Amino acid sequence: MPTYVYRCTTCGDTEQDFPMSRKPESVTCPDCHGTADSAFTSPHLGAGSGTAFGVIDTTKKTADELTR
Ligand SMILES: [Zn+2]
Repeated sequence: MPTYVYRCTTCGDTEQDFPMSRKPESVTCPDCHGTADSAFTSPHLGAGSGTAFGVIDTTKKTADELTR
């Protein structure tokens, strides 16, 4: 299961595991119970970006390799 980094504005980074298809854009911070937003973008999850097809292919390939 991939690990995603979320960033709380109060506490800093926290890591959480989610299935790739269920990764939320933000999570509840385990320390202060505030909102921690995803710290990096996932281009292959973005919808309708016509300029990033090459990036999407590369990212998908990398993600597939990581889950094996
Ligand atoms: Zn926090």
